[in-house]
Amino acid sequence: MIVLKCPNCGAALQVSPDKDRARCDHCGSSVLILDAQKGIARLDASSDAAIDEMTKTRVARFVILGIVVVFILAMLSTVISSMITIITSVFTGVLQVILGIVI
Ligand SMILES: [Zn+2]
Repeated sequence: MIVLKCPNCGAALQVSPDKDRARCDHCGSSVLILDAQKGIARLDASSDAAIDEMTKTRVARFVILGIVVVFILAMLSTVISSMITIITSVFTGVLQVILGIVI
């Protein structure tokens, strides 16, 4: 057995020299062993920890996008409702003027 360092948590990782990957007992990461003799190992890109990190990033982006969209919609609805108020008052004014001329 060879002792490597887990690239995710730094815990000691015992691997057999004939295997190309191992699972960290401490953090559960899947670790690719590139060179066991030289102690070179890196986190497997498809490991749970890597996927977790990717999911967190995606969720964070999604939440930020959602907040921006809600903010824009709120701004738009405020603008639209004030425009409707202005148009209605102008229309009412014009209508009163026309009615005043006719009558
Ligand atoms: Zn670990």
